[in-house]
Amino acid sequence: MLNKEYIDKIKELKSKTNAIILAHYYVNPEIQEIADFLGDSLALSQQAKKTDADTILFCGVHFMAETAKILNPTKKVILPDIRTGCTLADLSKVEDIEKWKNSFNNPFLISYINCSTKLKAISDVICTSSNAEKIVKSIPKDKTILFATDKNLGSYLSKKLDVKMHVWKDYCRVHNTFSEEHIKELINEHPNADIAAHPECPEHILNYAKYIGSTTGIINYINKSERKEFIILTEPGIKYQLEKNSTDKQYFFVKNECGQNNICINMKKNTIEKIIEALENLSPEITIEEELRLKALKPLELMLELS
Ligand code: SF4
Repeated sequence: MLNKEYIDKIKELKSKTNAIILAHYYVNPEIQEIADFLGDSLALSQQAKKTDADTILFCGVHFMAETAKILNPTKKVILPDIRTGCTLADLSKVEDIEKWKNSFNNPFLISYINCSTKLKAISDVICTSSNAEKIVKSIPKDKTILFATDKNLGSYLSKKLDVKMHVWKDYCRVHNTFSEEHIKELINEHPNADIAAHPECPEHILNYAKYIGSTTGIINYINKSERKEFIILTEPGIKYQLEKNSTDKQYFFVKNECGQNNICINMKKNTIEKIIEALENLSPEITIEEELRLKALKPLELMLELS
């Protein structure tokens, strides 16, 4: 629980700078507690686009704050720690994907929102794990579809929707490394538990899941379920929301292959102290060169239109 002094300080700074705090479900609980809006990538993008606050303080990772700036360029977008990268977005180099794209004749590139602004700028449409099915289904059948960046999400969509897609090879270090042994152990210990997974997990892990969906999808699924125990395959930051919604359910988060809690270390770089410092200095600020921003805006707007 956050102390009152911190809460009051943040409130004061927010009102002084007319700031809104947007936070992803994977950040630490004390940040979720003070956020004005909490969500997954899709909900946060929609919120960033419509806010009338002067400043957006983004508690998430770098590509999310950049997305907020692309969608709402007149706002000052600040990120408490500029080093909060995303391993998936950082793995996918635009030069490599552009070369891959150019090796096809008139392809249609869908890029997962977890990517750089430069990659968004060469994409035809963006998707998140919440709207990916809708986006893929909206592409005319005669198109050659390429899917970047996450190989697990791309393969899952291609199989589920029976749509031929060429899928790029990168992955999220968190969702790609769940331990199958630990899933089996948890199933043994809690045979009545329901299993929910994020589609960034590889197929052999998804095969265990009864429900597969985005972070918000998993939270909603568990909230509506009559079951009392859940084995969960996504970042454990969502536990805060789950416990807020229901106190009589138990949540078991699967560890990674090294036997550790499978956390996204970048999301955890956001801290209350850094938030206060960022609001005091209105920095580190996200800036994007206008020509690049306009190119990246097009596929993002198409995504929001189709969502
Ligand atoms: S959980 Fe994975 S995809 Fe999400 S921000 Fe962390 S590294 Fe990136």
